[in-house]
Amino acid sequence: MSDDCIFCSIVAGDIPGRIVAETDGALAFLDANPLAPGHTLVVPTSHCQRLADLDAEESRAVFDLLSDLAPDVEAAVDADALTVGINDGEAAGQEVPHVHAHIIPRFEGDGGGPIHAVAGERPHLDDEELDDIAARIEG
Ligand code: AMP
Ligand code: ZN
Repeated sequence: MSDDCIFCSIVAGDIPGRIVAETDGALAFLDANPLAPGHTLVVPTSHCQRLADLDAEESRAVFDLLSDLAPDVEAAVDADALTVGINDGEAAGQEVPHVHAHIIPRFEGDGGGPIHAVAGERPHLDDEELDDIAARIEG
């Protein structure tokens, strides 16, 4: 628990949240400024800032709840689809420094875009550069 973390305060019950599901290691609640009806956040109950900070158990708790809940969110608001994503780090738009996955209901013709729309201009990478990046990720 981090004292000045708003999501830790929701987990602790110190500030209100519209909680929709809870497991041993994860909590889901409605986003206070929804991008769509049903916009839900899934967080680990322990304070972790970045995805890479989650241990295997925390990670499993978040992704298990996320995949369990996704169809319920979609059905609850009669959505056509979902966009699911994590802003992992400030440069990616993370504002609350406690890992959270967004479940955003999507509707035909809602005017939104695919996840491919989140990045800036596409890079031009040749085969050698792609091979090099793949090798570096592989480690
Ligand atoms: P991100 O930009 O990925 O860090 O998203 C943070 C999200 O948390 C935003 O969508 C906010 O609307 C949401 N949020 C901030 N404070 C609260 C709160 N007290 N309860 C529920 N959602 C919140
Ligand atoms: Zn926290």
